[in-house]
Order: sequence, then structure tokens, then C-alpha cells
Amino acid sequence: MNYVIPFNKPHFSGPELEYIGQALTAGHLSGDGEFTSRCSKLFEEELNVKKALLTTSCTHALEMAALLLDLKEGDEVILPSFTFVSTANAFILRGAKPVFVDIRPDSFNIDERLIESAMTERTKAIIPVHYGGVGCNMETICALASKHNVAVVEDNAHGLFAKYKGKYLGTFGAMATQSFHETKNFQCGEGGALLINDEKFVERAEIIREKGTNRKKFFRGQVDKYSWVDIGSSYLPSEILSAILFAQLQSRNKIQTQRRGLWERYLSSLKDWATTEGIRLPQIPQGCDHSHHVFYLLMNSLEQREALAAFLKTQGILAVHHYVPLHSSKMGRELSPKRCELPVTDFVSDRLLRLPLYNGLTFEQQDTVITAVQSFSSKFSSGQDSCTSIFACP
Ligand SMILES: *Cc1c(COP(=O)(O)O)cnc(C)c1O
Repeated sequence: MNYVIPFNKPHFSGPELEYIGQALTAGHLSGDGEFTSRCSKLFEEELNVKKALLTTSCTHALEMAALLLDLKEGDEVILPSFTFVSTANAFILRGAKPVFVDIRPDSFNIDERLIESAMTERTKAIIPVHYGGVGCNMETICALASKHNVAVVEDNAHGLFAKYKGKYLGTFGAMATQSFHETKNFQCGEGGALLINDEKFVERAEIIREKGTNRKKFFRGQVDKYSWVDIGSSYLPSEILSAILFAQLQSRNKIQTQRRGLWERYLSSLKDWATTEGIRLPQIPQGCDHSHHVFYLLMNSLEQREALAAFLKTQGILAVHHYVPLHSSKMGRELSPKRCELPVTDFVSDRLLRLPLYNGLTFEQQDTVITAVQSFSSKFSSGQDSCTSIFACP
């Protein structure tokens, strides 16, 4: 179906085409050319990370993190169930077991109060996901990780340039991963990055990313030929993709400002309607300067969520739910047949509906969405069922 207003639309506003042309004529189409190096430098300087390595996806950056942590059969990693499959798969590929922890009722981020009791002597890492680019409670998570001597890898697919208590997301853990998939704030179609804050991972990360060879050292003149030195794979994006990404990164302030404008406009325009209907709008905990990656409504029930989505569809607007919780998916049930109880995760995933939000959505188009939502008055009961009134917030 063709929607008048789709949920997402890739958007290019800057010099993307010009840069693709430059990459083509420069005669270097494989990875780690001029544009890749400009993107990495921008991350390293702006975020102040030790190393930024562009990858072919956030999934691949997560796989690199799992390789760098030397995870093996029997190890455990702690993560939310309310996330994309790659957050778990990357570690399962190494034989590690995912241990799912419930989410906070306000931000839908991993509930830091529940992490310690999920830890065992086999726990090797905590993988917080900054949902919607709203920071997890990184003080508590990092303190727990250092107390138990486990690594933190931030899945920051949503939160590039967002901050927690004044510090960029992606700079708290030993490593962090970014996504430049076409659904994210900054896009090159398919792409990602591994941000490294702990120096000890840098050298091996370069090797793993380059098929297990010391090719990077060779190009820096540190060895006179390159060869096979470790396990690895091919995680470099082509220069064409890096050229697109660099154009997007150059427009980062414009992109962020536009998303903030749209996000805040949804919030202020839908406030009264939501209060009347007893529907919850996003709640941002104190100290989170977020990336405005998603705007959602938390409806009163699954039936009401489906009814609003169906109504919007009749208006040509695509609104979508989000993750099927990993613990209740087919794969999740096979991995741990003893079903864990994650009440907030189940509650939220049944009721969450995301509204169209993308770079390039005009105010006029947004008004169409707002008017349509406001005209939906449901026959479903409201009020008592709101997430934060059932579950306590930290
Ligand atoms: C999109 C996403 C990923 C995967 O990103 P790719 O670049 O498509 O591999 C991983 N984690 C989260 C939380 C995501 O939203």
C-alpha cells in the first residue's frame, strides 16, 4: 500500500550525490578511503572516543564487540528483551546466553534496579540499549559493571549525539555501537560504527575488522607486509556509503534540530488529547538530552492500539508498533523455555504505537497526522491502565 504519510522515508538534503561522485572519481571504492576517515575523525573529535571504526551495520559492530570480549559457550550477557534482534544475536553467535532484564516504565530502557540480581559468575557483559536515544541510567550501570568486573557495550543505534547528564551516549561503555540504517537519524542505507573507549580493544578491533589481518598497520607503515594474525571478518563499508554518511554528518545540527522540532510539536499538539483519552506520551527522565529518534503513544490496551493504527491507515498514515519482545519471540522461547517474567516489557510492547517521524517530514504533513490522531476518540476505557500508574518508576 502507498501511504500519504509513510512511517519512515530516507532523506538526503545535502551534498550526498556530489560526494558519491567524488568517491567514484577518486578511484578508491573499497573501505577506509578519504570519506571513511573523515567520518571516523568527526566521531573521534566530536564524541571524544579513543577510536571510531565504521562498519557495514550496527549488527556487525555488535558482532565485533562480542568477538573482542572473547565471549564463548556458557558466558552470559545481560540485555533488555525490548530491543532489536541484533542486540542478542551478536552474542549468541559466540555461544553466549542472553539474560533478559525488564525495562523501566518511564523510558523503556533496561531497569538498572533489576540488573544485579540477574548477574551470575558467568556474566561477562551488560548491553544497555538507549531506546529512542534516551540515555539509560549509566551511572548505576557502569558502577555495577565495575563492581562485578564485566564489560559494558552500549547499543546506541538510536542515540548518536544524544547525552546523558551532559556526556555523549556511546562514551560510557568499553565500546558502543551505532547504526546508519535508513530508519535511523543519520543514514547511508546500511551502515554502522564501533566506538571504542577502552584503549585495550583498539588494536585487535582493527585486525578483526580487516579479515583478521594487520592491514591497517601495513598502511601506517608499521609492518612491511600484512598477513593473517587473528580471527576476523570483513566489516568495512565501501567509500560510497561513507560518502553518503559524511554528507549526513555534516548536516547533523540541521537534522537534529529538525527532529527536535517535529518531536516537540507532536508532544505539545497531542498533550490535551492524550490527557482526555488517558493515553501516555513519552516520558524523558531527568538528565537525558535525547536524539528525538521516536515519538510514540502508549495506548490503554492492545485492542485500542490496533484500532488507532487501523484508523490511521484509513487516512493513509502508517503508524507502527515496535519490538516483539525477544523473550517471547520464537527464537527467545527456544533459547530459554523457562519463560521469564518481564511485565513492563510485555505491557509496553502491546500498547506502544510510533507515529511517522523522519528527516524531511513537513509540518503540514505532521499536521495531517496530528489531526487524524486527535479525531480518534476511542470506545476503550482510559485512565487507570497507564504504565507508570501500574509499575513504579525508579
Ligand atoms: C536498528 C538497530 C540495530 C541494528 O542496526 P543495523 O545497522 O540495521 O544492523 C541494533 N540495535 C538497535 C536497538 C536498533 O534499533
